[in-house]
Amino acid sequence: MQVYADNAATTKISKHALQAMIPCFETYYGNPSSLHTVGQEAKEVLDKARETVAKCLGCEAREIYFTSGGSEADNQAIRSAAFYGAKKGKKHIISTAFEHHAVLHTLNVLEKEGFEVTLLDVKEGHNITAQQVKDAIREDTCLVTCMYANNEIGSVLPIAEIGAVCKEAGVPFHTDAVQAAGHIAIDVKAQNIDMLSLSGHKFHGPKGVGALYVRRGIPLKNLIDGGAQERGKRAGTENLPAIVGMAAALEDACNNLEENTKKVTALRDKLIAGLEKIPHCALNGDRVNRLPNNVSFCFEGIEGESLLLYLDAQGISASSGSACTSGSLDPSHVLLAIGRVHDVAHGSLRLSLSHDNTEEEIDYILQAVPQVVALLRNMSPVWRDLQNGEREYIL
Ligand SMILES: *Cc1c(COP(=O)(O)O)cnc(C)c1O
Repeated sequence: MQVYADNAATTKISKHALQAMIPCFETYYGNPSSLHTVGQEAKEVLDKARETVAKCLGCEAREIYFTSGGSEADNQAIRSAAFYGAKKGKKHIISTAFEHHAVLHTLNVLEKEGFEVTLLDVKEGHNITAQQVKDAIREDTCLVTCMYANNEIGSVLPIAEIGAVCKEAGVPFHTDAVQAAGHIAIDVKAQNIDMLSLSGHKFHGPKGVGALYVRRGIPLKNLIDGGAQERGKRAGTENLPAIVGMAAALEDACNNLEENTKKVTALRDKLIAGLEKIPHCALNGDRVNRLPNNVSFCFEGIEGESLLLYLDAQGISASSGSACTSGSLDPSHVLLAIGRVHDVAHGSLRLSLSHDNTEEEIDYILQAVPQVVALLRNMSPVWRDLQNGEREYIL
């Protein structure tokens, strides 16, 4: 059996999104900036996609800027707020310790440029509270940037409450909603969100395309200079096929949100309940305020990489927070941020589902994971020490 359970990394494009893209190659191939009919037809298709995305977020079409993905949208939102903040002498930014690297690494660069960054602690409940944000806001705070939902452990942040706190303090609020868009109902106006990033490939759209919502009245600085595309804020001929595919995928996701959430949540809960029976494990992330598709565990006494390879051999595509992307053996900053010690953080497993997954697939995972964990523990010197009492169990 082949089971794809790595939807937080990327999703399979939906048939509808794929089909929506084809006319952009065959018919609407014009440059939306061209004045002739072929160009203007492409422009109409672009405008329609912008309206669709805006409708799904509860904003106006002119508040949507298309980008090359979530990373670019995060970079632009944060750098823009920093630029305008610095002009007013405000160089303090608030964020959280478990943001995506697209946010954290941008903040690291800004720190080197003289900004001060406060990263809110996420140990308590594997989440933050709006009160933490409120307490951290200062006279010189120019931006609060908190992710909508965490990509590794699934915690969903109290976005509306944070939005209210920021509004009251008059501080711009950006949220990296890459894991939330298409998975959780978003209403940027009701939630007082000033800027929001999303990415097409996280909700069954194409890769290499995203969007940045910027509330009217919030100044936006461009990251890429050149032509006047995207109201002068993002140069470069629009990637129309990808934009149209993303809009179609987002529209589907929003139209089927309730039904998909119900289905995926049931699969998630079954998976969590089954995996929790494995001794010496712990669920990562907020148990209540949680993405409907996220299952994240730490298993004591094993290596996440080995677990992944063994599961892959059984046809299961999963992920581990301890992936040594850059060849380093550092465990995930997210797992460390919620307070998992190095040894435990190394034994992590993330299964991220989609509405394409079936109950049979969950049963298959529930049969495979306990077996592989037991097998790896049998080979593990750490596990032997734990069993012999030469080391103390943490979980
Ligand atoms: C995937 C992801 C990103 C990056 O999006 P890309 O479109 O791949 O650049 C940013 N933030 C979060 C939370 C993500 O999950």
